[in-house]
Amino acid sequence: MSDELARIVRGVRRALELEDASGIGELFVASAERARLSPARTDPTSSPAPAAAQVEGATKSEKDLFGHPVPKTAAPAVVEETPQRSSDLAPAGIAGRGAILKASLPVLEQIAEEIRACRQCGLCETRTQAVPGVGSAASGIVFVGEAPGAEEDRRGEPFVGRAGELLTKIIQAMDEAHLVPGVSLSRESVYICNVLKCRPPENRNPLPHEVELCSPYLERQLAALQPRIICCLGKFAAELLVGAKGTIGALRGKVYRYQGAKLIVTYHPAACLRNPAYKRPVWEDMQLLAREYLTD
Ligand code: URA
Repeated sequence: MSDELARIVRGVRRALELEDASGIGELFVASAERARLSPARTDPTSSPAPAAAQVEGATKSEKDLFGHPVPKTAAPAVVEETPQRSSDLAPAGIAGRGAILKASLPVLEQIAEEIRACRQCGLCETRTQAVPGVGSAASGIVFVGEAPGAEEDRRGEPFVGRAGELLTKIIQAMDEAHLVPGVSLSRESVYICNVLKCRPPENRNPLPHEVELCSPYLERQLAALQPRIICCLGKFAAELLVGAKGTIGALRGKVYRYQGAKLIVTYHPAACLRNPAYKRPVWEDMQLLAREYLTD
């Protein structure tokens, strides 16, 4: 077993130790059967290799976690264009993220201040506090959920309840499995936010006028973050950003464009908690995300 493979297996073991009743380990079992992991992870503190070179390494590796050849089964991603929107999001190469990160900080803070003061819809009457978003533009990966729940409303941070714990584990699992070589993945290096910034009472679904009034904040956040790839968690984020209606089953597995960024759709972590069978497709979607992240 090569050193690198041994390191990957050690990483998976560590991740499995993190496993709890939510069953994130199943994701690894699925991944062990199918994953096409890049053989090498570059030092995150060193200058990243050009994106194209990293893709070479990633696509050439056709071995699973145990070093066995994996037959080519996954269909190539379909790239679809979404309707054009007003601003231009040009995803810089991985090496260009530093400048985007720096420029995004004051803009994101300004948007967050406006969100906290927002009284445009009735949700401001029932919220404890608004929940603008967490993380950074560092990696260029953005996860967009639906709306804050009770715990998020209490703490002012998205995805910190049970569904949030699962999302955090998925991000950790992506990092442990070195899905994006050379890019450290954590709640700090990705950005996590929602379509609605305030909790709907009793966690009811967002209403159309609430989405309409709130979505400009998300659009401005995305313009500041200039993501390489956006991951829509669930139906509300997917329908808003893809610009089409459909089930997650029908929308996932494809690569869309939102301005200059790539965009994929997957099941909401809360849906995975209700139906653990969704964890396998979610992990496949994270592998798709990683592959698409590495290609221009
Ligand atoms: N569900 C969401 O969509 N967002 C959160 O922040 C928490 C749960």
